[in-house]
Amino acid sequence: MRDRLQHYINGEWVDSTGSETTEVLNPATEEVIGHISLGKEEDLDKAVKAARAAFPAFSRTTREERIDLLDKIVDAYERRKDEIIEVITLELGSPVKKSEEVHYAMGYNHFKQAAKELKTFQFTDKRENSTVVKESIGVSGLITPWNFPTNQTTTKIASALAAGSPMVLKPAEITPYAAMILAEIFDEVGVPKGVFNLVNGTGETIGNGISSHPDIDFVSFTGSVPVGTKIMENAAQTIKKVALELGGKSPLIVLEDADPEYAANTAVSHIMSNTGQVCSAATRIIVPKQMKEEFEKALEKVLPTYKVGDPQDRNTFTGPLVAEKIWNRVQEYIQKGIDEGATLLAGGTGKPDGLEKGYFAKPTIFTDVKNDMTIAREEIFGPVMSVIYSDSLDNAIEIANDTDYGLAGYVVGKDKKTLAQVAKSIRAGRITINNAKSDFSAPFGGYKQSGIGREWGNFGIEEYLEPKAILGMEE
Ligand code: NAD
Repeated sequence: MRDRLQHYINGEWVDSTGSETTEVLNPATEEVIGHISLGKEEDLDKAVKAARAAFPAFSRTTREERIDLLDKIVDAYERRKDEIIEVITLELGSPVKKSEEVHYAMGYNHFKQAAKELKTFQFTDKRENSTVVKESIGVSGLITPWNFPTNQTTTKIASALAAGSPMVLKPAEITPYAAMILAEIFDEVGVPKGVFNLVNGTGETIGNGISSHPDIDFVSFTGSVPVGTKIMENAAQTIKKVALELGGKSPLIVLEDADPEYAANTAVSHIMSNTGQVCSAATRIIVPKQMKEEFEKALEKVLPTYKVGDPQDRNTFTGPLVAEKIWNRVQEYIQKGIDEGATLLAGGTGKPDGLEKGYFAKPTIFTDVKNDMTIAREEIFGPVMSVIYSDSLDNAIEIANDTDYGLAGYVVGKDKKTLAQVAKSIRAGRITINNAKSDFSAPFGGYKQSGIGREWGNFGIEEYLEPKAILGMEE
């Protein structure tokens, strides 16, 4: 049993004020793998006090000192590689190969990128009659979801460290263990006392506490739109800056000259990666109507090549959903798609054959979806694809932008000019052409209801800084 009942506050593991705990489950087996404490306001207060006390010294550390710290973290993170992979596989149900190639690697890349950005980051800028210096924003509160236990935590932590901002992290209570390994890493490499604090607990208590705490200057949140709204409302009471990374309903536009099998494979990989629990996944696949037959044939050919099953098996591509309540929600959406008249090409409600134990869902493809159907408007967060047929390229772009979200967009095809034109026409924060590989120096974040602010690289560090204008400084 992996019981971890302490919080990490002011450089040490400390007992929780209360005695309330919660179970952490393995979603592939439905077995309890351990417990964590649910902290109280008193625990959060202690953590904020520690961060506040660490602020004067940490905010004045040099660029070189912070690069050195990040370099040490990268080394220690690498040494804990096997454990990080094991824990993410257990708590999230992520297939072991993906825990390594995606989850572990993203954390590594964020720390590495922050150290790299710091080498050339412009903290000082001469203007006409002033010098602008960028200073640490103060104490940051970080609230993260469960779907990428090392990605969202590390991008925030690495940026805060790079900017000289002490922090309090509340990881998702469904997947808390990866963050606890991070705390051990920071302890081992000597992150100064109070700079990194971790308090486990519910969103209602610790999450709400962070967003309304008078001594927290900035909240960086990743999660759902309703909780993001609540955080903004709370933060407004003390005029706290917020950065919100919220949901998405991202389009993938297939051009007329695209290879149908390549396009189908791209689309399927989106709903199968991380079991569709990806904020930036392409879930609305917009296909020229004359390609309908070929595209559907290609989808039927490609889908079975993605293995769903035991996360411990290195051949598995897709594991279970993370929790029973998420499984139930995905089932409701699949039923809604059927009820609203979309064509069910593959999958449906229930569990895949032979996977009755665990929160496994059937990879599901709907075609003939209309963009006003619920499955095309709301974020499902499961392995469910909506194929929408378009009359023309203009119509495809119109459908792509007819959404409350704007996190990501995708386009596949051959003509370079059209690919660029479509990429520029989609109103979203990150567009990928033909499966181009990710870039940790490029910004990540959303337009519209997908959020406020940007993470990753320089853009992430900027969020944790305040620009100060000094007029008449002659030094
Ligand atoms: P969620 O909003 O339910 O929870 C996220 C975090 O907020 C958790 O730690 C939770 O405990 C906490 N929380 C809950 N209520 C709170 C409150 N009232 N005040 C403060 N904190 C509170 O989201 P989730 O279900 O964990 O994650 C899925 C959502 O996250 C999806 O909508 C997905 O699109 C989004 N997401 C966005 C990105 C991005 O970068 N844009 C990345 C991953 C996930």
